[in-house]
Amino acid sequence: MQDYSIISSDSTNPITSAVKNANYPAIAKSFNVESWGPDSSAVIDVTSLFLAPPIEMSPTTAYRGSIDASRSFLATVAAYPENIKVTADLTVNTPPAAGGGAGGGRGLPPSATLQMAWSIVRLPEQAMMPRLFDNRVGYFTNRTTDFGRPVQKSETRTFITRYRLECSDQKVGNLCVPKKPIVYYVDPATPSWLVPWVVKAIESWQPAFEAAGFSKGIIAKLAPSQAEDPDWSVEDARYSVIDWLPSTTENAVGPHTADPRSGEIISAHLQIYHNVMNLNRDWYWTQAGALDPRARKLPFPDSLAGRLMQYVIAHEIGHSIGFQHNMKASALYPIDSIRNKDFVHRNGHVPTLMDYSRFNYVAQPEDGIALEDLIPKIGPYDIWATHWGYAPIPGVKTPDDERATLDQWAREQDTKPWLRFSTSDAGASDPRNNTEAVGDDDAVRATGLGLKNIKRLVPMLVPATTGTATDDYSDLKEMYGRLLGQWSTELRHVAVIPGALESQEKYISQPGARYTPVAAKRQREAVKFLNENAFTTPTYFLVPEILNKMQGDGVITRVVGAQSGILSTLLSDTRLARMVEIETLYKPADVYTLPAYLADIRGGIWGELSAGSVKIDPYRRGLQQVWLDQVKAKINPGPPPTGLPAGFVVPRPSHDVQAIMRVELKTLDAAIAAALSKTGDAMTKAHLADVRFQIDQTLNPKN
Ligand SMILES: [Zn+2]
Repeated sequence: MQDYSIISSDSTNPITSAVKNANYPAIAKSFNVESWGPDSSAVIDVTSLFLAPPIEMSPTTAYRGSIDASRSFLATVAAYPENIKVTADLTVNTPPAAGGGAGGGRGLPPSATLQMAWSIVRLPEQAMMPRLFDNRVGYFTNRTTDFGRPVQKSETRTFITRYRLECSDQKVGNLCVPKKPIVYYVDPATPSWLVPWVVKAIESWQPAFEAAGFSKGIIAKLAPSQAEDPDWSVEDARYSVIDWLPSTTENAVGPHTADPRSGEIISAHLQIYHNVMNLNRDWYWTQAGALDPRARKLPFPDSLAGRLMQYVIAHEIGHSIGFQHNMKASALYPIDSIRNKDFVHRNGHVPTLMDYSRFNYVAQPEDGIALEDLIPKIGPYDIWATHWGYAPIPGVKTPDDERATLDQWAREQDTKPWLRFSTSDAGASDPRNNTEAVGDDDAVRATGLGLKNIKRLVPMLVPATTGTATDDYSDLKEMYGRLLGQWSTELRHVAVIPGALESQEKYISQPGARYTPVAAKRQREAVKFLNENAFTTPTYFLVPEILNKMQGDGVITRVVGAQSGILSTLLSDTRLARMVEIETLYKPADVYTLPAYLADIRGGIWGELSAGSVKIDPYRRGLQQVWLDQVKAKINPGPPPTGLPAGFVVPRPSHDVQAIMRVELKTLDAAIAAALSKTGDAMTKAHLADVRFQIDQTLNPKN
């Protein structure tokens, strides 16, 4: 089993033999020679390779157990020009539980038969010349460690994955006709009303390939019928297919198989789960439902449901032709632009399909944005990034010859911020790396506008979900839960602003810092916004006429649960540690200190204590207990979790955080002591007395 990731690219370098010897491939299986072929080649029986597969090919890494040979058989073997497809029915016995009992004592059946399929694909005779990856452009990659390079270390060489798209001699205008365009076939099992939308999703990428210099660089084809081409098969690796799966999973994925030597994408099978349509419906209703009359009543018309599928599939096509997510993109247009109908019509509300920026929830009814423009489409980043990865660079002989041109192309980001990609090592420190966000260039304003749409939607819940008299209320329950989820998602985009650093991926030729702390003013504004909008009970959700159709109890838990996630984002250990670091390292003129930050949050959560007469309602009592639980967990985090994979580090509260949290509890205790005399409400009194008891137990544990 050849490992292509450790190489010596220079075969004349003496180290090449050492690289070979030190990386001896694992043997997949040993076989007896059963016979000799007419050309003296050895004939072996490979049946056991599939019925008793080596661990690298076995399903038992995913399904624990052992293969029962007496209940397993080889089903089909099919040979295609570039691949061999083998299928086998393998019965796996679930291992017994420690205490005995079939099914591992976990409620599993004692055995299961899996229909396994292996596709063994031949690598191209001549590996394509790879293109070197650049952190500024979001391609998937193949990574190699190369010992044959003229450098004083083992060099990591990272290449992008992409299709082999080469110009033929034919031209259409100034575009070249590819020798072999990228072709995606529509699965014959696709529901027929959705086929046109799948075709549109594929061909919506054509402008991106035109920018790279190709006419019809990507095309959609319907799978031929048996009569048209009896040899055509979805299992033939020469064909990339949008597979349609009858699954309840609400998802879709766009993987590909690439040549490990060059990153050349050889074949791709997108997996579209039928029920992703339900997710589309829920997202669209909770984000754009207030603006789109077509969404007023469920189910949506087919034309809208189809258009939403087109969006999802176009995103998966993006993965399949080489693109990673670019979660930063939604923050790269100014918020006024994404409320401008002409701007959005030209550029979309997000510069790429590859962000998780779904539908324009920032747009307001008075903005007059066309309904079609509420849905993301191929944007400037997609077009630019396709050009960067696919445009041929004439006259080059090696990947390194391309570097200067690729750097120059990447530098277009200097003046066009909307072409930027997530910073490679920023992770959660960058407040713009949000998923499910629209307009998070200014998340406070974007969420404020989003909440206006959510408030418009609450009264629409019952009319939208109760169109069919013979149905039950399950759609109402689902959509209410989704709408509350949308509420907390949008507020969390604000909760990542404090203790954060804006970042931009830069290479050495580009001046300026890669990381810059967020201004104190913006951090304070975020906390203030959350105190007013997240921790003040969202009473607009608490409508008895809606809730009395949904559930007998659990409303308070539901609301407090949604708030709890926002609070834990604010109080994450890494965020608190960054606040201290920003103050110490960057010494900003205006600094939002950790004590001031925690005091502001406490002021919002415990605001009732400073009133003339103190009364705390059950929602707020629940939220205050959540705050107390989170603070207690900082002071007494318990033992670190065990059994994690090697190298997996769970952040722990620092000593600084523990020290300041003790002060928080003492300050609160004093405020409660002063407030107790100002309340006549029995539940408020009991709550506050209990909080004091918990504080005492935390600060003065008695063993
Ligand atoms: Zn994706």
